[in-house]
Amino acid sequence: MRRRRFLAASAALVPVAGCAVADRVRPSSSGTSTPAPERGRGDDAAWPSDVEPSPTVVVEEPTADVMEPTVDIAEPTTRPSVDPAGYPAAAGEWGENVTGVKTRMATDRRAVALTFDACGGSSGSGYDEALIEFLLTEEVPATLFFNQRWIDANERTFDRLAQEELFGIANHGTAHRPLSVEGKSAYGITGTDSPASAIDEVMTCQEAIRRRTGRSPAFFRSGTAYYDEVAVRIANDLGLEVVNYDVLGDAGATFTSTQVAEALGTARAGSIALLHMNHPGSGTARGVMAAVPELRARGFEFVRLGEYPLA
Ligand SMILES: [Zn+2]
Repeated sequence: MRRRRFLAASAALVPVAGCAVADRVRPSSSGTSTPAPERGRGDDAAWPSDVEPSPTVVVEEPTADVMEPTVDIAEPTTRPSVDPAGYPAAAGEWGENVTGVKTRMATDRRAVALTFDACGGSSGSGYDEALIEFLLTEEVPATLFFNQRWIDANERTFDRLAQEELFGIANHGTAHRPLSVEGKSAYGITGTDSPASAIDEVMTCQEAIRRRTGRSPAFFRSGTAYYDEVAVRIANDLGLEVVNYDVLGDAGATFTSTQVAEALGTARAGSIALLHMNHPGSGTARGVMAAVPELRARGFEFVRLGEYPLA
């Protein structure tokens, strides 16, 4: 794993949404899948906090059995036993930073996690290839949050990205709905309306990713990044940490490249930046291309979620 340096500054946050321009909800269809090919270390393998990964050393390639136990792929998908009847049908909080939502990494090191949502839907299923190729070429680790609609529209691309050790794979929901137990809305998008539908919104995509990759994501972000605190607890009980951001990187891919670069320039130690990888032609790619070398020059490194505990 290569580690690079990245930059920091004061954190100025603009309370604007992530994927606000999301599409209306449509019924989701489950992607069929085949087990993923051989791959490297799983993104859900958390690293000990503040421990520098060993520098690149040539190590004997582990055997296939060690790298990816076949049982992990063949294992039938089963949902954690979370009983929807065990949760209240009403909640007290609503927003992007309700109880239980993580927005930063707990570290004093100059580490920044870039996270890119792939929202899917009729206007959100594009693929910003220039952005992803830049990350690969410059070896910038990142965490990609996939909605099932995007996966369904880009199956081969998803499979290829899931094999990149540089990227962590995370869950961005099934129908891209705010995660609620009582049907609250954000940006005109109606949220899930019961504990059971919140479970489905999380787990249908989770299971699709597991079928395609053999791995279960450890991180979840809802469509619109809105939640109530009961729904967050449900996601936690399903084994996922709910991750938003402290740096609004591209405001739903509406920022110009200059705005994106300026936003990323406000990152500080442990920041999590929210951006999008589904809007080619937006300012996101060029903004990231401008910000990455600048942040590295300021001593920052880019990391994937899971490399530090969340706060
Ligand atoms: Zn989204």
